Amino acid sequence: MRIIDDVKLDFKDVLFMPKRSTLSSRKQVSLERTYTFKHSQKQWQGVPIMAANMDGVGTVSMAKALASHKLFTTLVKSVSAEEITQLAQTISPHHFAVSTGTGEADWQRLQDILRDNPHITFICIDVANGYSESFGDFVAKVRNLYPNHTIMAGNVVTADMTQELILRGADIVKVGIGPGSVCTTRKQTGVGYPQLSAIIECADAAHGLGGHIIADGGCTNPGDVAKAFGAGADFVMLGGMLAGHDEGEGQLIEEHHLTQQLDQATQQPIIETKRFVQFYGMSSDTAMKKHHGGVAEYRSSEGKTVKIPYRGAVQATILDLLGGIRSTCTYVGAQNLKQLSKCTTFVRVTQQINNIFS
Ligand code: 5GP
Repeated sequence: MRIIDDVKLDFKDVLFMPKRSTLSSRKQVSLERTYTFKHSQKQWQGVPIMAANMDGVGTVSMAKALASHKLFTTLVKSVSAEEITQLAQTISPHHFAVSTGTGEADWQRLQDILRDNPHITFICIDVANGYSESFGDFVAKVRNLYPNHTIMAGNVVTADMTQELILRGADIVKVGIGPGSVCTTRKQTGVGYPQLSAIIECADAAHGLGGHIIADGGCTNPGDVAKAFGAGADFVMLGGMLAGHDEGEGQLIEEHHLTQQLDQATQQPIIETKRFVQFYGMSSDTAMKKHHGGVAEYRSSEGKTVKIPYRGAVQATILDLLGGIRSTCTYVGAQNLKQLSKCTTFVRVTQQINNIFS
């Protein structure tokens, strides 16, 4: 048995150190980036924030809303081929990816979709554990058939496997095991890696080979997203932060509560209505039942189901998120998102937020 003794960090363990800056307004800060991908050699321009391929997040409506701000969506696997074809005619195919697992049915579906939609260039190959040999073989198979498509693959959390996936054909490696808002992998298996350190180490490994990474999971506020970019992420993927909105197409749950206040006219207690949306991990019982008819006996569920407050249209959340990251850039003196990691010095903290009124 071996123990790695260096301290590994999460978002909550650090803050950005402010630095002298010549920027006078956060309006001056551009969050767009331009990347050329290693294998596909395709160029991409946009704001490198992605909706996760989860129910309630990676939907067609979300893709349309995010694309209007130049953000990206990895579509959930259950979006039909017809819906994808329609979407490709509505928004730029540079702003969404088709997701696939590694099963035979997934492989067939992917080929059908890409045959019918030659303009779609992004493929997201997604499994909970990107360490199996067969996963690397699958990435190589997809690369072989689609030499000019941009392939995202994951998830992993270490430099060695980031490099392996890039060498087997991935352009972009998805990084994160266990940090997700509705993930229970760490509880269920004890496996994981602190997300900020995973980003720093995997980004370094990927960039050395001309590859890119996505920081996937664990962001709970705009500050965390900024920290992921500061740590070297090329893209940041969000589930929970984008959940609860109209565009997630989830079912609204209404709950009625009696309040202490009396209605002046009737002298009866006023009834308050609170609205919620169900959100769940893609390997939760809820997702397994919905997509596969149940959890197979040999595996346990590694995701949970939660009820979150309904948040209306996603537009306000996007503006709040982008505003926060622009502000980070002004605090550390970064003219644009590209400069953010170069201007980043993290300071380790034992407490980052004052919770007295929460
Ligand atoms: P969040 O932004 O909500 O913190 O994290 C989103 C990420 O959590 C997703 O992109 C995906 O990688 C991961 N995830 C989604 N569903 C599940 C699940 O059921 N189990 C686990 N282990 N991870 C999940």
